[in-house]
Amino acid sequence: MAVIQKCTFCGCSIPTGTGKLFIRKDAKMIWLCSNKCEKNLNKLGRKPRETGWTEEYRIEKKARMAAVAHEEKSAEKPAEKPAEKPRKTKKAK
Ligand SMILES: [Zn+2]
Repeated sequence: MAVIQKCTFCGCSIPTGTGKLFIRKDAKMIWLCSNKCEKNLNKLGRKPRETGWTEEYRIEKKARMAAVAHEEKSAEKPAEKPAEKPRKTKKAK
């Protein structure tokens, strides 16, 4: 039975019989699809969330863009408010 693993760094599926498996001291299993992912993670110390070509970055960016769009929508709403009411003037006694 072949279980398809996902690359821990980039998120792509790893075909059976390829890739590498690292096991950290804390027993965390790290699947890596290519030498590119291995170097970016171990040698260069990059984080998947901050590396542009990874799946995690794309998901995070999508959420960020949705938040910005929501923020812009909510910013437009106050502009639709009716014009200012005429100011009250103090009445002389
Ligand atoms: Zn990968």
